[in-house]
Formats: sequence, structure tokens, C-alpha cells
Amino acid sequence: MTFAHVAPAKSYLSALLTASNVFRRGLQRLVARYSRAQGEAFVTALSITIGLLAILHFQMGAWAFANFEHQTDAKRNAFILAGAIVSAAFGIFALRRWMELAHEVTIRVAAEARATALAGEDALTGLPNRRALSAELARAVARAERSGTNVSLLLLDLDRFKPINDVHGHMAGDQVLRELAQRLRGAVRVGEFVARLGGDEFAVMVSHGRNDQLSAVAAATRLSQSLAQPVQLGSVVVDVGVTTGIATFPDDAADVDTLVQRADIALYNAKQCNRGHARLFNASMDTEIRERAAIETDLRKAIATNGIVPFFQPLVDLRTGHVIGFEALARWPHAARGFIPPLKFIPIAEERRLIGDLTASMLAQACRLSRDWAGAPSLSVNVSPLQLADRGLAVKLLELLTNADFAPSRLEVEITESALVTDFEGARAVLGDLKVAGVTICLDDFGAGYSSLAHLASMPFDRVKIDRAFIQLDKGPAEAIKVMGAIVGMCRSLGLEVTGEGAETAQQCQILMNAGCSVGQGWYFGAAVAAEDARKLAANPVLMLTPWQRAPDADANAVVPIKQYLRSPREKGVRAQS
Ligand code: C2E
Ligand code: CA
Ligand code: CA
Repeated sequence: MTFAHVAPAKSYLSALLTASNVFRRGLQRLVARYSRAQGEAFVTALSITIGLLAILHFQMGAWAFANFEHQTDAKRNAFILAGAIVSAAFGIFALRRWMELAHEVTIRVAAEARATALAGEDALTGLPNRRALSAELARAVARAERSGTNVSLLLLDLDRFKPINDVHGHMAGDQVLRELAQRLRGAVRVGEFVARLGGDEFAVMVSHGRNDQLSAVAAATRLSQSLAQPVQLGSVVVDVGVTTGIATFPDDAADVDTLVQRADIALYNAKQCNRGHARLFNASMDTEIRERAAIETDLRKAIATNGIVPFFQPLVDLRTGHVIGFEALARWPHAARGFIPPLKFIPIAEERRLIGDLTASMLAQACRLSRDWAGAPSLSVNVSPLQLADRGLAVKLLELLTNADFAPSRLEVEITESALVTDFEGARAVLGDLKVAGVTICLDDFGAGYSSLAHLASMPFDRVKIDRAFIQLDKGPAEAIKVMGAIVGMCRSLGLEVTGEGAETAQQCQILMNAGCSVGQGWYFGAAVAAEDARKLAANPVLMLTPWQRAPDADANAVVPIKQYLRSPREKGVRAQS
């Protein structure tokens, strides 16, 4: 091939490529509305066809056609025919590909449309979901900003839903949620938007006039009434309530995120203080939340440094009057806030998943402090119901006992009733492991929760502690003895020992004895005291009450006065913290 052949061939080729590229781009734009892949297939086929036609037409391309003109006609025809066949094959391939892709695209577009719809929809109830609510809130807030109106967000949390799930199963729970979602859908009006946020939480957005929060409250009342009607579950009827938190744009929040956060704070507050009702957000709630957050920060530090210490409340054998054990109760002496009561920090520890570390710290300290006390009294430690979900809990607790060189037979673990209902199997496994190791298992606050007799009988309990509400019954001591006596009888028939707690007076102590409790606890015998005071109490052989002997003909319900040998710690001024 000579230079004279190559130069025009190059310019032809580059002109051809440029034209092909321009054409290709134009076509790509044209088919862009279909899909990139379709465009590629079409344009490739077209480019090849045009390229071949151009080559044939101009008979150019020195590198390809250098010897072409020297060939015989037959060979040239064969060559052209082969080119035409290849080009036709490409064309057919491209056409087929085009049709396949067109089909795929139709399916994909439909699937995408469905996915978009589903992404904004709650699968169980068909209501809009959290994502759809956020989008709607953003639109409504923008509208309200333009028109100077308000948008209220109502967060609704169902009350008493959990027991439905626990007692009747998740299918029943789902059925209830679907029914309630249907009612909410029917109860909302124009300008309102209902969504399910997940679990048993729903949200309703209400657009209304400036400073017209009453219409949001009215909506809350209307929605709560629609939910309050009983739900038929096969042959059973269940009923749920609803607690609502309300925040309003722009009064309570300047943007959507803050609006959701503030409604949540109002809901949290309502759940704490006013279950079953609606609460409007106010600034003091925010302060409360901040304080809670501050407590949480300090709580983490306090747990890590053993800053939360056990105080010890005596447990008294009601037949002999001896102190036979102590309940370790958490006390937090806070540098700035004074003593923070457990009822304030335990729920935070549970919510923030710090309770496992707190229990470990309490148990380790209590074992170390009480290990060498005279008479080797028992040690009762509270374990949070939430911890029973941890199948490794028994091993962790037993390891702590080993490290502290504390005999498992001296430890009693107290669990409140609610534990049994949330995770029955998990609780049974953990408690079983502890029991096998020699630990005593006590069901705390019995009567205050909602565990069934079946649960009581099939869990490995050794002891039941009757909630103090029973001893403090308004109906008087005789009634208290009857009710407590019935509970004691039931427990005894299941082979369980019974502790009565909350005895503040001699008369209440008498009620415990008359009802048949074997162990008593309460301020009457002594409040929770620091380790050093408890150690002295354990070493002190003085009886906490007279060995009480009921006359053979005494009225079982009569309240017999007790002579105290030891004045109550409260009188002695040692009721430091309780
Ligand atoms: P609880 O386990 O039922 O403990 C008994 C509570 O009743 C204690 O309150 C105790 O001080 C109080 N009390 C004792 N005798 C009397 C009495 O005669 N009258 C009255 N009115 N109250 C009495 P405290 O120490 O404030 O603890 C409250 C709750 O906090 C405990 O109830 C327990 O559920 C929880 N708690 C305390 N310490 C711990 C802990 O270390 N871990 C866990 N998980 N919970 C703890
Ligand atoms: Ca307890
Ligand atoms: Ca208790």
C-alpha cells in the first residue's frame, strides 16, 4: 500500500467516523426516553449498516481495499455478499435485542411504580408509612409557611396493646392493628393525613388555622374515641386505649424534624403522667428531656465507677424475729443532685440498656460488702425483667459470684412479674440455670402485674413477694388479711414461700403474720441502710419482734399488738435512705 492510497483513505475514514458519531449521538438522544441499552443496540446496528454501505459505495479504505481491485469479479461479489450478510445479521440481532429490551423496560417501569407506591405504604395496614408522612409534612409545612397557617402533628401510641400480642399471639395483634388502622382512616377529615409509624404507633397530621390548636385537640379526641371501641377477636373482645402527643408548626417547631421530635416529647410526657389522654407540647417538657439526657450521661459514669452503691434493707423471719437476709437496693448519691431515687434512674438505665452493667456492679459490690457478715445472711438482688432476654445472664451472674467468692445458695434473685409475660421461655431458661446453681428465685411485687397462675406454676420460683399495695389496702386490716391470706394459701399450695413487704407499722406487721407470710420486710423492721449499719444489724442478736404465739382460740383475723425489742431504725434516725 502506497502513501497516495493511505492519505485519502484516512480522511474518508475520519469523516465517516465523525458522521457516524454525530448520528449516533442524535439517535441516542432520540431513544433516551426508552433506555440507554436500547439506544446502544439500535445505534450500533445502524452505525454498522451505514458504515458498510458507505464503504461499499465509496470503495474506500486503502488498508481494507488495497488488493480489492485486483480481485476477480466473483471474489469481489463474494466479498460484498459476505459484507451484506454480516450487516443483515447484525441488523436482525439488534432488532431482536431492541424488542427484548423494550419488553424488559415495560416490566421494570411497572415494578418501579409499584415499589415507589410500596415504599410509601405500610405493608400490614396499607396506611401511608413514616416516609410518606415525612414527605406530606414537608409539603404541609411549606404550604403553612406561605399561607401563615398551622400544622399539628399528633403521635398516637396504643395502650394495652402489648398484652394482646403476648396473650393472644402476633396474628391477633396484627388483626387488631389492621382494624384500628381502618378506623383511623375512617375518622380522619379533609386536611388530615394518617400514617402508621410502626409497632403500635400511628401519626395524624392536621392542617389548621393560625393559633387554632383546639382543632388538633378535637381531632385527638375524635380519633381516640374511634380507637376506644372494643375489637372483636374471634370469640374474645379486647380493648385498647390511646395516648397522644401533639406539637404544632410553627409555634413549637420551625421545621419538620423538630416538629416530630417535639410531638414525641409530648407523647413521652403523656405516657409518663397522663396515659390515655392527649398532651400538647410545652417548653418545660423539653427541659425534662434534657435533664433526663443529663442524668443518662452521669449514670453511665456512675455505673462504670461503682458510684451507685447498694444499701441493705433487712428481711425478717416472722416466726423467730431474726434478720435472715437483706435486699440490696440501689442508691445513687449524686454530687450535684443529692440522692437520686431508683425509680428515677432505673427506668433510664433500662431504656438506655445500661441495666445489665448496673446489676453487675450492684451484685459485685453487695457480695463483696456482705460476704463476711455474721450469720451469713441471704442477699436479695433485683434483676430487671429486660435482662431475662439475655440467655447468657445466668452465666454472667454466677461468674460474678465466683469472683466475689460468694456462695450461690446465699443469693436470691428478685424479678418483677412483668418479666414473665414478655419473654416467657427466655425467663424460664435463665431462671432454671440459676436455680440449678443453688440461687433462690423470688417473684417480686406479686399482684401488681398481670402474670397468670399458669406462669406462676410453671416457672422455677422458690418464693413470692407480695406487692405492698395489698398490705396497704384501703378496706382495713381484716380485708387485707383475707386477701393476703388467699394469696399465701395459693402460693403455699404451689410449694412457694411467701414474703410480705411494705410493713410500716406494727399493725401491718401483724397483718403479714396473720396472713401466713414467713418473711417480712418494711420500714417497721428497718429501711435500707448503708453497708456498715447493715453489718451491725446482722451481728446484733436482738430480735426484731417478740416470738409471737397466737393463743389456740385466737381469732385468726384479730390484729394482735406486737411488743418490739428493737425500736425501728426510723425512730432511731438511721432511716438514711429509702
Ligand atoms: P422493690 O424491689 O419493690 O424494692 C422495695 C422498695 O420499697 C424500695 O424502694 C424500698 O426502699 C421500698 N420500701 C421498703 N420498705 C418500705 C415500706 O415499709 N414502705 C414503703 N412505702 N416503701 C418501702 P426503692 O429503694 O426506692 O426502690 C424502688 C424500686 O426500684 C425497687 O422496688 C426495685 O424495683 C427498683 N430497684 C431498686 N434497686 C434496684 C436495683 O439494684 N436493680 C434493679 N433492677 N431495680 C432496683
Ligand atoms: Ca425487690
Ligand atoms: Ca417489691
